[in-house]
Amino acid sequence: MHELGIVTYVARQVDEVARENEIDEIAEVVIEIGEVSGIVAEFLIDAWDYFRKNYPVLAGSKLRCETIKAITHCDGCGRNYPTVQYGKTCPHCGSGETWLLVGRECNIKEILVPDDE
Ligand SMILES: [Zn+2]
Repeated sequence: MHELGIVTYVARQVDEVARENEIDEIAEVVIEIGEVSGIVAEFLIDAWDYFRKNYPVLAGSKLRCETIKAITHCDGCGRNYPTVQYGKTCPHCGSGETWLLVGRECNIKEILVPDDE
């Protein structure tokens, strides 16, 4: 299961950051997912809810997913276009000499701690 692997990785990273910064409770972890990464945000959140119990610092935390729009670059005309809409063929010049600029990533964007009372 792809998503559980990602959650395991994210949880480990966040746990490490928390240790380094002497944070003992995390409220929310925000991750960015590329539009064509094949990662399903709902599965990721389900996996998180299951997995976070393994780390005391994450036990009360939520996972929030933000989507990064996929963009493809065309070598034929040098322009960029939205990947999901047009696929591998450039809508500007019809060239197939294209490659994905962004859209496959999965990054930790933000780690939020609970508000101070
Ligand atoms: Zn083109």
